[in-house]
Amino acid sequence: MNKQYDVVIVGTGVAGLYGALQFDDNTNILVISKRNAPLSNSSLAQGGIAAVLDRSNDDPRLHKEDTLIAGKYKNNPMAIDVLVTEGPADVLKLRELGVEFDTDENGKMLSTLEAGHSRHRIVHHKDFTGKAITDILIATAKKKKNIDFVEEALVFSVDKADNGFYLGILKDGRVSQVGCSYCILATGGIGRVYKYTTNSAIATGDGIALAKKMGATIKHLSRIQFHPTAFAAEHNRERFLISEAVRGEGAVLLNCNGQRFAFDYDVRGELAPRDVVSNAIMLESAKTSSEDFYLDITDKQPSFLRNRFPMIYERCLDEGIDITRDRIPVFPCQHYLMGGIDVDLMARTSIDRLYAAGECSHTGVHGANRLASNSLLEALVFSRRAATDIMCRMQRGEQGTLGNAPQLTSPQGVPLHKGIRTEIRSILQSCYFVIPKPELFPDSLKRLQEIDKDLKATNYELTSDYIEAKSLAAVALTILEEVTAKQNAGEEI
Ligand SMILES: Cc1cc2nc3c(=O)[nH]c(=O)nc-3n(C[C@H](O)[C@H](O)[C@H](O)COP(=O)(O)OP(=O)(O)OC[C@H]3O[C@@H](n4cnc5c(N)ncnc54)[C@H](O)[C@@H]3O)c2cc1C
Repeated sequence: MNKQYDVVIVGTGVAGLYGALQFDDNTNILVISKRNAPLSNSSLAQGGIAAVLDRSNDDPRLHKEDTLIAGKYKNNPMAIDVLVTEGPADVLKLRELGVEFDTDENGKMLSTLEAGHSRHRIVHHKDFTGKAITDILIATAKKKKNIDFVEEALVFSVDKADNGFYLGILKDGRVSQVGCSYCILATGGIGRVYKYTTNSAIATGDGIALAKKMGATIKHLSRIQFHPTAFAAEHNRERFLISEAVRGEGAVLLNCNGQRFAFDYDVRGELAPRDVVSNAIMLESAKTSSEDFYLDITDKQPSFLRNRFPMIYERCLDEGIDITRDRIPVFPCQHYLMGGIDVDLMARTSIDRLYAAGECSHTGVHGANRLASNSLLEALVFSRRAATDIMCRMQRGEQGTLGNAPQLTSPQGVPLHKGIRTEIRSILQSCYFVIPKPELFPDSLKRLQEIDKDLKATNYELTSDYIEAKSLAAVALTILEEVTAKQNAGEEI
């Protein structure tokens, strides 16, 4: 593959693909995914995208206010302004590209309500909005002559060259290199650093680990969102999400005694922001000494539920639960990362020519807690902005001049021992879940430092397992370093 591109985009989620489609036809682009292109968190998105498309009963200022409230006012207001004012046009662009958002009989896009939103503003495609979007984006990008696709290819290194980058890629057990003038990291989240997560298998924080190694600023990695209502099946590591929209449509949350309790913790009840509902469940769990919780939406018409939530209906049926008749067992799990590679309003990282967009980035939009359905919007808006900025620079003649390529890494080495990833996952699950356990921080930090050191110092065979273990260790360590520093400074964790 030893070729040179104007832009290499790592990631085929919404951020990577939508970004790729913003460039003009003269820009030659490589888009890389470490598994098949559709496997991403984007494809899993259910609820939809938040955007103010109808100003008769809504306003971007209200969307901003809801985002600030959910984020505990720790957001970057300028980033939110960009999000809420520019985002609607990006959503309409998706529709132009062929994404079939649900509409009423007059063709008007339907909007639903989700937790934390003061208006109905979530547009959706049934309950598999993410797949509806990524299918179209993948098909559109694959038709473009200026975009090359490489799937099942794992980026394991990014090295700054004179005026660009060389990326190391592992594909089919072989190592190759590709050069580029600009690089956009759109590598998604970190869910796999937890034992239970809603995230897909690709979510191992590779882009964040690569950026950190290059010296890019990483911010607020400990701002992690736990979704209150993932389907509670002990045998699944990737937990299936029972979307906020189910509560938006009226589902109630019950404890092990069949009692509603969400209003005991917050006046917004089941529709309070995710962190509030997750906290309520954990506190109620301590109170009842039980981890058995349920969502109940059986008072709605079965035909409505089957039509509105076809995927959730089918997935629950696979687990023996008929949501039209049965209560759905739920419990919180890791869902989203608010922090990440720090970027400015044009998605520029602290390293010249390196950009980041989507869940791996930190724009400041989400603050301490993401408002539901704001992340697909963020991925669209800021990946477009990254592309715009790069094209401006290229038009000014700022093409990259690459020096000599670094020596190719040899894939040979000693095999990685089993159990490392499991150990990292159980460390974070034990000490930094919904309600942190600071008393476990010192030992957890020490062990993560040992694991990280070993993974860096030992000449392990270059496999995807090893590369991802290294990313997980770097991410977990950064999270614990951050919370330990906060603890030492007497700040709220
Ligand atoms: C179950 C679920 C439901 C959700 N529902 C919603 C919702 O309704 N609304 C909403 O706004 N948000 C939702 N989210 C969040 C949202 O889907 C994600 O935040 C967003 O899609 C992230 O997009 P992304 O492009 O940044 O990353 P992803 O879509 O995760 O894509 C990451 C890409 O990076 C590639 N990659 C990673 N590392 C490497 C590497 N080392 N080498 C090569 N390629 C690499 C992967 O292969 C993948 O292609 C949901 C998330 C989940 C998990």
